[in-house]
Amino acid sequence: MNHKGKRLYEGKAKVLYEGPEPGTLVVHFKDDATAFNGEKHEIIEGKGVLNNRISEFIFTRLGEMGIPTHFIKRLNMREQLVRKVEIIPLEVIVRNVAAGSIASRLGLREGERLPRTIIEYCYKDDALGDPLVAEEHIAAFGWASGPEMDDMVQLAVRINDYLSGLFAGIGIRLVDFKLEFGRQYSQDGMVRTVLADEISPDSCRLWDMGTDEKMDKDRFRRDLGGLVDAYAEVARRLGIMGGDDKGVPNGPRLVKS
Ligand code: ADP
Ligand code: UDP
Repeated sequence: MNHKGKRLYEGKAKVLYEGPEPGTLVVHFKDDATAFNGEKHEIIEGKGVLNNRISEFIFTRLGEMGIPTHFIKRLNMREQLVRKVEIIPLEVIVRNVAAGSIASRLGLREGERLPRTIIEYCYKDDALGDPLVAEEHIAAFGWASGPEMDDMVQLAVRINDYLSGLFAGIGIRLVDFKLEFGRQYSQDGMVRTVLADEISPDSCRLWDMGTDEKMDKDRFRRDLGGLVDAYAEVARRLGIMGGDDKGVPNGPRLVKS
């Protein structure tokens, strides 16, 4: 079945097509890996398939616990059907452990547990390199309303609690991750804030609890190699990628660390 309509947008990691129904999109996960605002680029065969499956698994679990998301269903190895939303132009970064930009910015040791979970915002603008912004900027420039900020923070905290537990159960520490939210308009003119984009090892830092080995995109950013093996191990521990293409995830299995 040809479920795809017009190609609407090609990003660094995904391509968006019109979906079969109005208000839907088909998201195609590419094998492209980029870092440092697109300066570093490589094709890593198999990455798109793994991210499609891992993101499907996570969005499905989050949906089951009442988090509103754009996800409708996975269509095939590389594509999923989602609800089209108006993306709020912010990256919501949730951090449990110091790593990456917060470690260099504040002089923290990578791996240091933060005194509490910290939520940061970056303004989504490739030309500016997605700069870190304060709530003050968000309010002043109207990038998100007050109620939308409340929604995003509440959802981010719930998602963090759930995913930290999910990953801890399979011997993985959720160090930090990035979320994107969108506005979903209903026919009666109501708008609600829903989780969009993807949650995958491209958008999270995931460390093996036993060895501190990185199981995320830092393998690419820092030239560590073995990215696909690491993503496949995340998928394996989550209980996915075991069966055929249409296979239903079995859920996490306990992994000794
Ligand atoms: P980038 O745009 O940063 O290069 P991607 O290659 O991941 O990133 O492209 C996916 C794009 O699709 C992102 O800009 C993201 O904000 C947008 N997006 C994700 N989910 C939805 C959705 N449900 N509706 C509309 N846009 C979406
Ligand atoms: N992140 C992301 N997309 C971005 C920026 C960050 O998915 O454009 C994720 C990144 O994978 C990490 C978290 O957000 O899990 C925090 O990233 P950080 O600010 O430390 O950025 P980086 O070290 O990548 O510059």
